[in-house]
Amino acid sequence: MSRAAAALDENAGCAVPVRTERGQREVFCGLTGIIWLHRKIQDAFFLVVGSRTCAHLIQSAAGVMIFAEPRFATAIIEEKDLAGLADANDEIDAAVARLVERRPDIRLLFLVGSCPSEVIKLDLGRAAARLSGRLSPQVRVLAYSGSGIETTFTQGEDACLAALVPELPAEAPQAGPSLLVVGTMAEVVEDQFARILASLGIGPVRFLPPRRAADLPPVGPQTRILLAQPFLNDTARLLERRGATRLSAPFPLGVEGTTLWLEAAARAFGVSRERFAMAVRPYEERARAALERHRGHLAGRSLFLFPDSQLEIPIARFLSRELGMRLVEVGTPFLQRTHLAPELALLPPGTPVVEGQDVDLQLDRCRAARPDITLCGLGLANPLEAEGLTTKWSIELLFTPIHGYDQAPDLAELFARPLVRRTRLVA
Ligand code: SF4
Repeated sequence: MSRAAAALDENAGCAVPVRTERGQREVFCGLTGIIWLHRKIQDAFFLVVGSRTCAHLIQSAAGVMIFAEPRFATAIIEEKDLAGLADANDEIDAAVARLVERRPDIRLLFLVGSCPSEVIKLDLGRAAARLSGRLSPQVRVLAYSGSGIETTFTQGEDACLAALVPELPAEAPQAGPSLLVVGTMAEVVEDQFARILASLGIGPVRFLPPRRAADLPPVGPQTRILLAQPFLNDTARLLERRGATRLSAPFPLGVEGTTLWLEAAARAFGVSRERFAMAVRPYEERARAALERHRGHLAGRSLFLFPDSQLEIPIARFLSRELGMRLVEVGTPFLQRTHLAPELALLPPGTPVVEGQDVDLQLDRCRAARPDITLCGLGLANPLEAEGLTTKWSIELLFTPIHGYDQAPDLAELFARPLVRRTRLVA
């Protein structure tokens, strides 16, 4: 295992010190994104081209969910396939043919690559183009990688949405400005945002990913994009390449983040301050009142965030600024500095932010600090709990509706609940 040479990052203009760390990582691979993506795009199917390990990962990650539906599967590429890539391609074609025949409701099929060497040698992009030619217009076939070599955890969603961008239709030249909200959120949250944006007179508003494959949103120079998730680097870059303009804002987590996120849209669409304040004030007041319930459990408590979901910085900002938690260390697997700049500016000055991971060094720091609560992946949670530390699984942040005003108290509760439980156990 390599030891990290932690180096101070030259992140000029940033109010917090950012260190980079390289070493052994303890994070899920990008296949995990299938678990929330398949629920969102309701006529899509995700066919993982992988090994039995991949099948097990998907099954156990899905097991965390209550409402797993069978809209994903794994085509297992056995070692014997190493002998001939043509055989493997035939295998994929046959698996897809069987699937499409059995599931005529599928409109969008993703071939998802993984890390076994026999899969890496396959050109899944070419396989997708071949199959699309055969199956369109009923089924569109796309490919992306969820391999643990190329992606961590939430990067799988970025890769999936990036694969969709070339498929988006061009906006009509006379269409006028539109807003595209990018990133998977629970439908209940999307509906709330659609209502608030409509009340501000902002529209048309569209979402990526869409709920149905036929509703791919148009994109072009009049499209303003608002990222709902902080891990969509490639997707944002490809949308910008198609002429869209990204609106810079913190992410819609917590009351403050949600207001600043909506405000970015309001500014871009010329909404007056008064109209904006009138529209959002009732939501803000209700959410702030509900947050108070959790403040007593969280204020003054210390928090250590291991790098996992890339949501760590917005979560740390919310818990420190709105609930008074003390940040011991904020880890993030990657730091997209341009997208995260408004978030970093809101962190308490001097907050230690660490990009990347050397898991042993980080565990040492966590044990030394004995934080009141630690946000981490499933693999680290059990050993830390066994040592008497209270943990919260970061994967829950992706399975639970946490964006927006009405969900801010639920997000606070995710952290308050384990602390309350620990207090009861100790008492
Ligand atoms: Fe494991 Fe790689 Fe499959 Fe992910 S893609 S489950 S890291 S073998």
